[in-house]
Amino acid sequence: MAAPFLARRVWNRPPFRVDLVRCRACGFMFFNPRMTGEEEQRLYSGYRSDEYQKMRLSCEPWYTEAFNERLNSPEVWKTRKEKLADVFKRHFYEQPIASILDFGGDRGDLIVDLVPGAERFVYDISRVEPLPGITSLHDLDACRARRFDLIVSSNVLEHVNYPRQFLGQIADVAAPGKLVFIEVPYETPYSALNLAKRLAQNVILLAARTGIGLRLMRPAAMIQMHEHVNFFNPRALEQLVRAMGWSMISSGVYPLGIYRVGPLQIPSARMAWCVART
Ligand SMILES: [Zn+2]
Repeated sequence: MAAPFLARRVWNRPPFRVDLVRCRACGFMFFNPRMTGEEEQRLYSGYRSDEYQKMRLSCEPWYTEAFNERLNSPEVWKTRKEKLADVFKRHFYEQPIASILDFGGDRGDLIVDLVPGAERFVYDISRVEPLPGITSLHDLDACRARRFDLIVSSNVLEHVNYPRQFLGQIADVAAPGKLVFIEVPYETPYSALNLAKRLAQNVILLAARTGIGLRLMRPAAMIQMHEHVNFFNPRALEQLVRAMGWSMISSGVYPLGIYRVGPLQIPSARMAWCVART
């Protein structure tokens, strides 16, 4: 089912049934129907702003201001960067990287201190104000007008309607032979983590937003299409990158940490990452 918040923000309607599709060759999964570009824009414009948080809270009582802020907190980013420090050191510090583009990077948290001295840019449809020192590029033409030594895309592919089209945009912006770093959650909607999270959320909903909660009292509501519309594993990510004609330099998996739902602490998803050359 489409999650109540998603149904309301994107389509302004109650939750409805969607299909979950799985590729037999690589295990990639996605929700169908796909969102159009316009629908994606409705979902992500003003991402995590006050207005966004309030609308989300009205559908999801756990999505408080504090919760919203924690998602982007310096501690969360610090943990993620620590996990990736080795990868970055190995691949990005031994060659000159003068400019970095964070593609779909929200405020540019990942790249803000990635390579000291490099020029930093972010392209994001949310139009969120970037962190100090990072220049926001508002459209693909503005991206194409520059040359980047490294393009990163972290936690974006699982949100986009057409992953190949999205990587095509990166390919279009990247000069040949440049580096691309991609990371995505390594997850399925059936994972114990996602099911536990959903169960906890549905119970909270039943207590706090009984109207919405009752609508979710059915097995189909355990699998919800929310922000993540694609579900990757390392093989699916590799297939996707190879389909772009890029050469894979390195790839791996790391665990993220702890996810909190109210009083519950659940070990969070793993991340799958890769470094490729365009
Ligand atoms: Zn596949």
